[in-house]
Amino acid sequence: MATKTLTHYWNGSAQSGSGTPIDRLSPSTGELITKVPNATASDVDAVVAAARNAFDNGPWRHLSGMERAKFINALADEIEANIDELAIYEAQETGKPLSLARGDVGGSANLFRYAASHAMQMHGDVHTNLGKGFTGLVTRVPVGVTALITPWNFPLLLLSQKLPFALAAGCTAILKPSELTSTTTVMVAEMAKKVGIPDGVVNVILGYGNTAGQKLIEHEDVDFISFTGSTRTGRAVIEASKLHLKRTSMELGGKSANIVFADANIDDAIDGVMFGVLFNNGECCVSGSRLLVEEKIADEFVAKLAKRMSEIQVGDPLSTGSQIGPMIHSGHLEAVLGHVVKAASQGAVVATGGVQVNTGDLSKGYFVAPTVVDKVTEKHDIFHDEVFGPVLAVTRFSGTKEALRIANATKYGLAASVWSKNLDTALDMASELQAGTVWVNTTIDGSPQLPGGGVKESGFGREMGQAGFDEFTEVKTIQIRTGARNRYFG
Ligand code: NDP
Repeated sequence: MATKTLTHYWNGSAQSGSGTPIDRLSPSTGELITKVPNATASDVDAVVAAARNAFDNGPWRHLSGMERAKFINALADEIEANIDELAIYEAQETGKPLSLARGDVGGSANLFRYAASHAMQMHGDVHTNLGKGFTGLVTRVPVGVTALITPWNFPLLLLSQKLPFALAAGCTAILKPSELTSTTTVMVAEMAKKVGIPDGVVNVILGYGNTAGQKLIEHEDVDFISFTGSTRTGRAVIEASKLHLKRTSMELGGKSANIVFADANIDDAIDGVMFGVLFNNGECCVSGSRLLVEEKIADEFVAKLAKRMSEIQVGDPLSTGSQIGPMIHSGHLEAVLGHVVKAASQGAVVATGGVQVNTGDLSKGYFVAPTVVDKVTEKHDIFHDEVFGPVLAVTRFSGTKEALRIANATKYGLAASVWSKNLDTALDMASELQAGTVWVNTTIDGSPQLPGGGVKESGFGREMGQAGFDEFTEVKTIQIRTGARNRYFG
């Protein structure tokens, strides 16, 4: 594919901006795939002005919910119609296998359709029992100009957990993708124009997070920041939001556990554990990067798992048959392998993997062999640190009480999975696990109706579901007195 040259997008048109472009090289082959403009402070001012003007003076927030829903559904149709192109750019820039990228595109269209239903149903409450002549309206209004900041692992899907909900509520949006994976975000903005969404409602600013992103989150004309990314950057966003006391929503990192009890369906659990840690090359916020396995089945379970992991096809994301692709960039490759080396030096046992795969066609990419690190305890850094690669840390436990204690012994609280055919065990664990989502006999599952998000250092706020829509609204109360005033001063 030829190199794609991107532009920022605001006021319904491509904007070249003034900064020096950034080269995005393929994580599989090292070839130049995308040229990305790097926004300056004046570019950020311009994009915010466009979104502000469209919110304050444009028609979008005044359209009926039914009309907004039509536009959002049209955008879903457009996403589906362009699945081939969107999926190729996603696979090429992120390194995820093409089949997975196609799934992300389909899932994104579904999120737009689901969010459209909220545009139609947005309503409030009327209180008529407050006393004679006193009526209260509790309404929901759009939160305003929103900054939607997304990471590189699911550029389109994570955008789709935010943008259609913002649009459904009547907000305007400034999209800031990672400079590593910007193409599909720009394509969505172009599609918004094509389906007739008014100019200035969907805007994109491109460039580095610590310059363009930082200026965006500090801008006083941005009302709400919806952020997905690392816990470290999340702290910087919260810090910046203090300046103008902006509302924020934080979808941050995780160290989720698959907890396998001896009474589980073992073959299902092995498949689930592999899916949990290898999904999206392991570069996934809800990655099942820890396995907690009951002592009495541990040796056999880990041996089978390690064998299956060693058989996974690592390869170019665009080649049929590749089950996992490369890490996002060279620095990340080194960081992922560094976690394994450190674990081994601290006494954990590498059962399989732990090395770069760089033979033949893969010699110029950042591929990591699926890795199982066994005999991990709470004393090892790999038990706590988010690796964000195809690396599983295995810890053994005896009984429900110990499983729960070990599962909760991390600063993160994004998700957890319980594998057991005993209803008491599954539900007792589910109710006590400190996580925004708990899966039982499944993992990395979901549907647009079901909210996702974290507790502890995995963040706050929710995406998807009713809760995800409500994030993009404010509650506004209108109090009405009728009849003669009961005068205070006579
Ligand atoms: P980062 O936190 O580095 O970046 C996330 C986004 O924030 C990028 O667009 C980045 O831009 C931008 N950014 C960076 N610095 C700033 C700043 N100072 N101000 C404003 N924006 C900034 O995360 P990664 O992209 O490395 O993504 C991986 C992380 O995301 C993992 O920790 C993962 O757990 C988390 N994540 C959480 C999810 C969830 O739902 N909880 C889902 C997916 C990922 P740029 O890349 O251009 O620097």
